Amino acid sequence: MALHKVTSRDVTEFGDLYASPLSERALPKYRIPDRQSDPRVVYELLHSELLLDGNAAQNLATFCTTWSEEEVHRLMDRSLDKNMIDKDEYPQTAEIESRCVHILADLWNSPSNQNTMGCSTTGSSEAAMLGGLALKWRWRQRRKADGKPTDRPNLVCGPVQVCWEKFARYFDVELRQVPLEPDATGLRPHQLRQYVDENTIGVVAILGVTYTCDFEPVEAIARELDAIHAETGLNVPIHVDAASGGFIAPFVQPELVWDFRLERVASINSSGHKYGLAPLGVGWVVWRSADLLPKDLIFNVSYLGGEMPTFALNFSRPGGEIIAQYFMLLRLGREGYRRVQQACIDTAQFLGGQIEKMGPFKLLYDGKGALPGISYTLADPDAGFTLYDLTEQLRTRGWQVPSYPLPADRQDTVIQRVLVRHGIGRDEMALLAEDIRRSVDRLGRGAGAEQRPGFHH
Ligand SMILES: *Cc1c(COP(=O)(O)O)cnc(C)c1O
Repeated sequence: MALHKVTSRDVTEFGDLYASPLSERALPKYRIPDRQSDPRVVYELLHSELLLDGNAAQNLATFCTTWSEEEVHRLMDRSLDKNMIDKDEYPQTAEIESRCVHILADLWNSPSNQNTMGCSTTGSSEAAMLGGLALKWRWRQRRKADGKPTDRPNLVCGPVQVCWEKFARYFDVELRQVPLEPDATGLRPHQLRQYVDENTIGVVAILGVTYTCDFEPVEAIARELDAIHAETGLNVPIHVDAASGGFIAPFVQPELVWDFRLERVASINSSGHKYGLAPLGVGWVVWRSADLLPKDLIFNVSYLGGEMPTFALNFSRPGGEIIAQYFMLLRLGREGYRRVQQACIDTAQFLGGQIEKMGPFKLLYDGKGALPGISYTLADPDAGFTLYDLTEQLRTRGWQVPSYPLPADRQDTVIQRVLVRHGIGRDEMALLAEDIRRSVDRLGRGAGAEQRPGFHH
């Protein structure tokens, strides 16, 4: 029991966690330590180190959940041992996953809720890979049936999130990214004709463009593909990447047609851990109908004497996020999601109004009609600072507000984006607006002082 003695002496002999041997030296970083340590000391030291990570509530760059109710924390704790893949040992967790898939299929207006096919994933990235694989497989089946070559598949899309670039590279598909038109925030339907051909496995439409927060016009994209179909015979399906919009549009814009109401929409992905309000680690992909998911992508595993189909990149995976997702769906319902998302949208618009009044900025997306967020550019060429300077200045108050260039062909335009999420209140955004105002003032004065001596005050 020598090791145990060392462990308990850490705290008992010295009394205070911060006067224990472990806390009096730098923690091992490149080699596993030889000895055990008191869990309370290790916990406290790690907890302190993690404080350096920055405050998630002030991170206005992320779409992901940073605030959860106490019950979610408790359910996550209780679910620590639940392995999503082990449907034999955790049949109720599997059942809850299936309920979520049906609820989402219904929310996204699937024509045949009973015939729905879908699954949970670790996030939208894995969900996008699965959606993309199904598109590739179906395209290949069609080409083989026609006796045509299958070696040059391509995927057509606008300014997509990096997961689609990964999909294309990992699974050997050419990514045809349509460049942005001069004043556009996403793909425009009339651009498609130039890009789709017989090797196009599908078009990705984005409900909530990562760069600008705007929704791409999925219905108009579908109409354009209908017209292309009628004229050329090319029948190109749509996958909607609704990573963030999938949990916004159904609640605050139920009349917006973007989902399975459009026959051309074959599959949809969304991140449960973004506006789905579940904690990190869950995404969803749903197909319009079971026949759109090729059988040879599904692996059948025998559980409980029956056949359990599985389609995923991972095997073992935590089940807690899925349980928390079901909790959120039950706890909020349509009404609750609508109110939470609407509150975020209202707060984003409030901030947009404040930013607009300040003078040097031009709103690119004002928070109306798509995601709860805003994006803007620096319109005043004589402002005396860049958006990157502003990002840095805001950082001194703990705010994380990213600045970045738009994708091709608008890479000369630098923008700033603020996302408003569950847990970010009106007052917090009023404080941010005040800090932006102060920063603009300070930065403008600083640069002005160099160019115009005597202006400094
Ligand atoms: C966030 C995002 C993704 C990636 O989602 P993860 O859940 O982080 O894997 C994909 N597409 C869009 C449009 C996104 O906003």
